[in-house]
Amino acid sequence: MILTRTHESQIVSSLTAQRAASRGSTVPLLEVKNVRHFYKKREALKGLSFTVSEGEIFGLLGPNGSGKTTLFRILATLFPPFSGEIQVLGKALWENLFEMRRRMGVVFQSPSLDGKLTVFENLCHQGRLYGLYGKKLKERCEEVLTRLTLKERSQELVEKLSGGLKRRVELAKALLHRPEILILDEPSTGLDPAARLELWKYLEELRVQASLSVLVTTHLMEEAEHCHRVAILNEGALVSLGRPEDLKHEVGGDVVILKTGRPEEMARKIKEKFSLEPVILEGLLHMECSGGASLIPQLSTAFQDQIEWITVRKPSLEDVFLHKTGYAFRAGEEALR
Ligand code: ADP
Repeated sequence: MILTRTHESQIVSSLTAQRAASRGSTVPLLEVKNVRHFYKKREALKGLSFTVSEGEIFGLLGPNGSGKTTLFRILATLFPPFSGEIQVLGKALWENLFEMRRRMGVVFQSPSLDGKLTVFENLCHQGRLYGLYGKKLKERCEEVLTRLTLKERSQELVEKLSGGLKRRVELAKALLHRPEILILDEPSTGLDPAARLELWKYLEELRVQASLSVLVTTHLMEEAEHCHRVAILNEGALVSLGRPEDLKHEVGGDVVILKTGRPEEMARKIKEKFSLEPVILEGLLHMECSGGASLIPQLSTAFQDQIEWITVRKPSLEDVFLHKTGYAFRAGEEALR
């Protein structure tokens, strides 16, 4: 039987609902309530609140400086927030630190592998930090090596592996103690597009097969599209929260993009004639409207010689950011090139 993503989601929702029911609990897996954080007087997180449900892949999307890493470090228990509450399955994170660290697998942005050790040795080292020894440690290493199809690589030195394989070993390390929630900070940094896709394939498999819930930070729009729900951050505040398709739906209709030699003048004329609100981004006019396809011939007729090109597309998460903040989300583009 071929399972579609909807089928899988239904099965996982039903499994996680059963698990929650068996615990007698309907509390979210992770709850972040009004979390604020300051670096000296600079407010890096401005009262963030959201929940993550069991079995979902939740994305924290934002341009550089939006507060993703600060929140990630707080969730990874590296330091407490200035104020606010964080609960994992109804228990306060900071009051149950050791239990919480066992329930969580963490993959930091900067590599944490020892290149001079083999894959297996790296895993053993990590396992011991979690109190795993002997037969149990060996079994767990076998388990994660199999899950992440790394078995054939287990005796290779980590420094000889590609970037994508190293990332997979980091994932394996984070799973050794069988966490319930996996948190990853910008996991695609430094990976080529193929390795990025592969990483997401593994995250989705882990979610389904190991009933993991995943929280991932990213500044890449295309990555956020893989998430079930996304919290979009800007300057430490929550801009938008929901399923990518719903967020894009909020923008509505179409986005028409137009290139002209005189963008300011054209923006003014379009506003007067068509009652639209063009925004100029890197010299291009962006317009949200319904029926973009029928607007194109109207614009072409009205400004024949002044248009270099014009196109229409459905809204992206970048348009959601523009819609909510009034300016462009540019951080991820260089990384995608
Ligand atoms: P992101 O991960 O989205 O790029 P960060 O959480 O790293 O965002 O940064 C949020 C804000 O906090 C930025 O304005 C950044 O300059 C500031 N910041 C981050 N870390 C520190 C620090 N250690 N000391 C002072 N300011 C910091």
